[in-house]
Amino acid sequence: MSLMITDDCIGCGACIDECPHEAIYEGEPYSIDPDKCSECYGNYPEPACLPVCPVDCILLDPDNIETSDELMLKSQYYLREN
Ligand code: SF4
Ligand code: SF4
Repeated sequence: MSLMITDDCIGCGACIDECPHEAIYEGEPYSIDPDKCSECYGNYPEPACLPVCPVDCILLDPDNIETSDELMLKSQYYLREN
């Protein structure tokens, strides 16, 4: 499952440097590319962007549900391409 950013985002930028997949983009609100976000699977035990958000506006995206195998494949694909 990818994560998503809600309209509560205040644009502080704290999340963007935490992402190991460069999946977070500046904007109003900031956004997460579901094709790149792997929930940090294979990189960290928990999504790295979640704890740094001061307004808790980063959530699991119910429209982008994936298995752990799919998340791991996404993570490995990113590492191969970068
Ligand atoms: Fe990036 Fe991980 Fe947050 Fe997904 S969960 S946007 S991969 S930091
Ligand atoms: Fe928006 Fe939260 Fe990221 Fe700050 S940390 S830019 S409030 S999503």
